Amino acid sequence: GRTLPKPESTRIFTVSNQKGGVGKTTTTVNIAAALASAGLNVLVIDIDPQGNASTALGIEHHAEVDSIYDVLINDLPLAEVVADCPDIERLLCAPATIHLAGAEIELVSLVAREQRLRRAIDVYAKHREAQGMERLDFIFVDCPPSLGLLTVNAFCAAQEVLIPIQCEYYALEGLSQLLKNIEMIQKHLNSDLRVSTILLTMYDGRTNLAAQVASEVREHFPQEVLAAVIPRSVRISEAPSYQQTVLTYDPNSSGALSYQEAAAEIAERS
Ligand code: ADP
Ligand code: MG
Repeated sequence: GRTLPKPESTRIFTVSNQKGGVGKTTTTVNIAAALASAGLNVLVIDIDPQGNASTALGIEHHAEVDSIYDVLINDLPLAEVVADCPDIERLLCAPATIHLAGAEIELVSLVAREQRLRRAIDVYAKHREAQGMERLDFIFVDCPPSLGLLTVNAFCAAQEVLIPIQCEYYALEGLSQLLKNIEMIQKHLNSDLRVSTILLTMYDGRTNLAAQVASEVREHFPQEVLAAVIPRSVRISEAPSYQQTVLTYDPNSSGALSYQEAAAEIAERS
């Protein structure tokens, strides 16, 4: 396969959209897998209590596993929960467990409650350096659909927001609320944050509606929307039940190729 350029410093993305089922997790794991397969060092941080990203990446995340919950709430070093993904070299994952469901409430009373993920990532980066490990090129934080303290932690830790948009009727409506929330974060908590990337997902080329929504989104966000579009594909939706990304599950499928294209665009811009 092709190799992609390393960024000058670690690029940290939060993958966010307050709608559920728009392809956040699918996009997180497949973009991460594509970048790792192209020679980059990539970490996925799963902060959705559902743990779907951990599942798709083949990482154990039953209730007894140390997870990002322990990092956020009990100050466990991120280094102690980061695991290697079994099928893809250079791809790491910090898993979520069901305990995260309680973290929204537990975070409320903690010191620096919005900054805990950011600090954990900083400490982990220094740990890697001290251990003589290669610098991470990309970190992706897979968010739950709500704007609670978990998602706020992701927004505070990231420089870039990647928004997956499903090409259907209400796509733009949900987006304006998301953008307002991001503005609020920029103003009060993280002035470095920007929406760098929008990816059209589950695109059904047979419908006029999909094409209309896609062109409307491109009109509003000409800089941010990637040229690559992710098609609606059974292979993409099947992969997680085999604890795989579509890149290893069916490397020649249109889904795998489109995620590789999207990943290449992300790596080549900055
Ligand atoms: P979110 O994380 O935003 O809730 P998911 O990534 O879990 O969304 O996707 C929701 C559902 O849609 C999942 O069952 C997933 O397998 C499926 N899905 C995601 N992307 C595609 C696609 N391009 N084609 C077909 N199914 C998809
Ligand atoms: Mg998800």
